[in-house]
Amino acid sequence: MNYSQARWSEDDRYEPLLSEKGNREVAVDEDGLLPDDLTRDTVELPALEEPELARHYTRLSQMNYGVESGPFPLGSCTMKYNPKFTEDLAALPSAAVHPDRDEGTVQGLLGVMHGLQDYLARIGGMDAVTLQPPAGAAGEFAGVLVAKAYHEHNGDQRSEIVIPDSAHGTNFASAAMAGFDVVELPSAEDGRVDLDALESAVSEETAALMLTNPNTLGLFERDIEAIAEIVHDAGGLLYYDGANLNALLGQARPGDMGFDIMHYNVHKTFATPHGGGGPGAGPVGVVSELAPFLPAPRVRKTEGETVERFDPEHTIGKVHGFEGNWLVLLKTYAYIARLGDDGLADASAKAVLNANYLAEQIDYEVPFGPFHHEFVASAGEQDAADVAKRMLDYGVHPPTTKWPEIVDEALMTEPTEVETTRSLDQLAEAFNAVAGEDDETLESAPSETAARRIDQVAAARSPRLSWQALDEE
Ligand SMILES: *Cc1c(COP(=O)(O)O)cnc(C)c1O
Repeated sequence: MNYSQARWSEDDRYEPLLSEKGNREVAVDEDGLLPDDLTRDTVELPALEEPELARHYTRLSQMNYGVESGPFPLGSCTMKYNPKFTEDLAALPSAAVHPDRDEGTVQGLLGVMHGLQDYLARIGGMDAVTLQPPAGAAGEFAGVLVAKAYHEHNGDQRSEIVIPDSAHGTNFASAAMAGFDVVELPSAEDGRVDLDALESAVSEETAALMLTNPNTLGLFERDIEAIAEIVHDAGGLLYYDGANLNALLGQARPGDMGFDIMHYNVHKTFATPHGGGGPGAGPVGVVSELAPFLPAPRVRKTEGETVERFDPEHTIGKVHGFEGNWLVLLKTYAYIARLGDDGLADASAKAVLNANYLAEQIDYEVPFGPFHHEFVASAGEQDAADVAKRMLDYGVHPPTTKWPEIVDEALMTEPTEVETTRSLDQLAEAFNAVAGEDDETLESAPSETAARRIDQVAAARSPRLSWQALDEE
């Protein structure tokens, strides 16, 4: 072990708050413009010079772990390294303009939106795309509402959405929020969709099947054409959860597999930063029959080759303001344009190769395969959460654990295309060092990090989200 994370305080607690470093009182509302009962006379604000401020945030960042510190086992879902050139574009003053500006004065930006709609449609094998939803989950919700609007428009009331038990939790939530009953589909022995179970799950109540391919275990649904036929024959639609798209970029397209609706997690697939809750973007693509129902506005080219906003004929309305998280979308455009067709195909090939290389190097068993861009190893007799905590001590980010439940003590791993042979070996060394350790060592981990093991349940159930809460202790 040769890793130790920065710790900046003797009592091991934390880097002092800005307000603990130096404060000053500032008068509030000296001109008396606000109602008296809503204002204080003064407020305490931190009073620090620039170098103190810069050092404070640098020290905090050193007590943290990020994509610029070292490798992440579950890359795209948590965070993968994002090339910096896209940030340069998003930082251009001309990129951040008010969305209410006259369309004639922002033709360049609208042109980029139009270009991105086209890129995404081509990548997914879809006919029309909306950029509006601000995350994958928001894309799911919009997509499910589109499916609902489509069926209702055809005078077809359908109340159910079928979702495999291995699906991401957001699928169940999106379907329920849109007012559907969820029919959960048990996985087959091999971790894939069970065709017999699917046959008995679909009916004239089925609005859609939501599926990701490759699935959460990284397994490609070989029977996807049969799956599509079963769902379509029942009058349902096929929804593609695009979170695993970087296994397929430039190799295969959901549209060609029979999917009717999909979302793109551009912050996972196309290397735009996310994590800690956003911002991301979750554009939605659909086949032509569903295009009239997409959220408004979209953009299109006029005959005069200018770009204009328009509302699709039977739009479900807005799911976010304007065109969504525009700067995230601009970075997505830049990334796709820079890589091109060959670069995207190369990225997915490397994502798959890296996952398979890493799985070969580690001592933990991988029960399901052959897998593509991700795999789920089993911690076996060890507790997966302890393994994750202990990996921190070896200077790598932990994998996601205990999910999907189909694997005992799951260690979910997706190194992505950005890791190199060297950083994959570093990950493998961390996995293997932990695989050889006893329970006592694991249970007391981490010991080399700025913060020791935290109470995760308390952190989730009763978070203290302000500095005042610390003072109240
Ligand atoms: C991440 C993820 C989602 C949700 O996407 P967000 O952009 O995080 O809202 C949905 N499905 C799968 C399989 C995912 O991995």
